Amino acid sequence: MDDATARMRLETMLHELDRSIGVLKGDPVALQDRSAADAGADLTDADRTQAMIDAAKRQRTAVLAALKRLDDGGYGQCVDCGRPVPEGRLEARPEAARCVQCQARVERRR
Ligand SMILES: [Zn+2]
Repeated sequence: MDDATARMRLETMLHELDRSIGVLKGDPVALQDRSAADAGADLTDADRTQAMIDAAKRQRTAVLAALKRLDDGGYGQCVDCGRPVPEGRLEARPEAARCVQCQARVERRR
């Protein structure tokens, strides 16, 4: 995947994330549910909406970081070990900052 394609895909993702975050934040059902939710409820629609907003924001941060790496010329290299991130991984997740091994290590650390 060349830089122009990566940039296009990342910018598309950014627009979609912005739109979903806006929709989620303005979701009238979720807002209603928040005020109506009783304290004993497990996972309300409002909680689920908030979780989706959080996930979208995290992904948005990752996409912005990837766009910055494109500008800096470091795109496609693992931010931890500096080895190239496999093409297939970038195809699936253009915002990926790490190779599979380093990502697995980061996720174990959490
Ligand atoms: Zn790595």
